[in-house]
Amino acid sequence: MVNNTRTNPSFDALIAVIKNQRALSDTDKNLIKKAYEYSQKAHTGQKRGTGELYFSHPYETAIKLAEWNLDTATVVAGLLHDVVEDTEKSIEDIKNDFGEEVAFIVNGVTKLGKLKYREASDKNDKKDLLAENLRKMILALSQDLRVVFVKLADRLHNMKTLTGVALAKRKRIALETTDIYSPLAYRLGMQSLAGELEDLAFPHIHPDEYKWILSNIKDQYDAQVKYLEKVKPIVAEALRKNNIFPVKIDYRAKRISSLYKKLHKQGVNFKQIYDLVAFRIIVNTIEECYAALGIIHQLCPPLPGKIKDYISLPKPNGYKSLHTTVFCLNKKITEFQIRTLEMHREAENGIAANWAYSQAKNSKNYLENKAVFANKKELQWVEQLKNWQKDFTDPKEFLKSLKVDFFQDRVFAITPNGEVIDLPAGSTPVDFAYNIHTQIGDQCIGARINSKIVPLDYTIQSGDMVEILTQKSKKPSESWMEFVKTGIAKRCIRASNKNKKGSLLLKDPLQTEIKIAASDRIGLLKDISTVISRSHINISRLNVPKTTALPIIRVICDTMNKERIEKLILKLKNIEGVKEITYRHVQ
Ligand code: MN
Repeated sequence: MVNNTRTNPSFDALIAVIKNQRALSDTDKNLIKKAYEYSQKAHTGQKRGTGELYFSHPYETAIKLAEWNLDTATVVAGLLHDVVEDTEKSIEDIKNDFGEEVAFIVNGVTKLGKLKYREASDKNDKKDLLAENLRKMILALSQDLRVVFVKLADRLHNMKTLTGVALAKRKRIALETTDIYSPLAYRLGMQSLAGELEDLAFPHIHPDEYKWILSNIKDQYDAQVKYLEKVKPIVAEALRKNNIFPVKIDYRAKRISSLYKKLHKQGVNFKQIYDLVAFRIIVNTIEECYAALGIIHQLCPPLPGKIKDYISLPKPNGYKSLHTTVFCLNKKITEFQIRTLEMHREAENGIAANWAYSQAKNSKNYLENKAVFANKKELQWVEQLKNWQKDFTDPKEFLKSLKVDFFQDRVFAITPNGEVIDLPAGSTPVDFAYNIHTQIGDQCIGARINSKIVPLDYTIQSGDMVEILTQKSKKPSESWMEFVKTGIAKRCIRASNKNKKGSLLLKDPLQTEIKIAASDRIGLLKDISTVISRSHINISRLNVPKTTALPIIRVICDTMNKERIEKLILKLKNIEGVKEITYRHVQ
């Protein structure tokens, strides 16, 4: 499990990987070359924790993106993804030197880099919810799946070089990887990446179990490999006799992380685990998949209930394959997986494998047309995206569009502890406060967003870090009803105000209604609201009648202090066009 990733970056090697997948124009090649040299230069003198040159990291990230057959903009963004975060260069520099599209992706990756996942709770259901919210937030912030791909490639290399990171940080990064990034890759249909990330994280999360599994598994694993080597020619011969010439027959070891899950869940011991290693047969057509399955069953009787047809009924993430477990040579239980080359590629790379880079390339307007990669019917991952709905709580959100802004109606904000709170778009700090706890909502007196004080009716943006300021004796203001978005906030404010009315102490009115009769003119309303806010009085409502003869403007203010109101009225009377002002306290 030791990953020796010491590499020598080479521009030619990167180009070779791309050309292995697709044709590359000279313009694209030159752009990649420019990014390659730009990144190399910007990271000069920086080293990775492993002692390697820093550039090896963006280089490996770009290689991975090229292997996934992503477009030139994504490969370029991979090379540049840490330039803004770790060097003197700004996102403006990237925009000037590489254009808006690359800058958009790099900026997205930089934003994601600021998210930190912390295990916020011991309760598993809560933990799952938090992780789910963070995954949604990653998608919402990304807006373009290419941002997620760069982030995943970045994370993969970081995991391979995790020993270069301080010990204390390793576990946090490993947990973030298994809880957030691996499931995200899985949802995107990138099974093999998901498994690889889990396996890389496993030793850091369960070091003792890892050692134990390694020492217990070794002999059995070796024995199984030896056995499969013996079986392989027999299977190949049987297929050949039936005119099936597989692209490949090989076997793969079960992932340590999934082995651990199995042991943990089923409480079985190692002697009972017969599928440490499974056969994988890759053929040319779907018909051959079923034919091969039949031939194997003729050769060795299948275990009942172990035949799985993921071709007719793919897994929710789009995975297709036939699985069967049989009594093989000497009655040994052996697992077979049968699939076409296309299914195999999809299982490896998921949505990335179906990336329509030509479309993205042809669309200059990709920012306005975020659906660039979802227009063609033949893109199977559209199916996968539809399948996601099973995994997410609100399926309507998903079907509304196949763009990456599935979450356009939601915003995801973070608490100072790193918890992600999922809110409807347009939510305010008051909604945020009530979503954390009723008491925090009730006692809310102010909010800081990304360390800056904001008004309570501020509209929260995805990615905002929200800190709620509270005061013990504070009661919620009815005026909050004017701007809150969530049901929970509305219910709590109403409930609290109802209680107030019932109590003798709080019978006094809380707000003042000021009626201003004025002859209308352009700028009148602005002048009125400027005067009020200069007096540091909060306007909770401002009504202007539709008829304009002599309009009466009603302003509800959040104060009932007579002195302040009278002072305010004097100032209001000085506004041009104002004829008459009356006021009364309201409840
Ligand atoms: Mn990075």
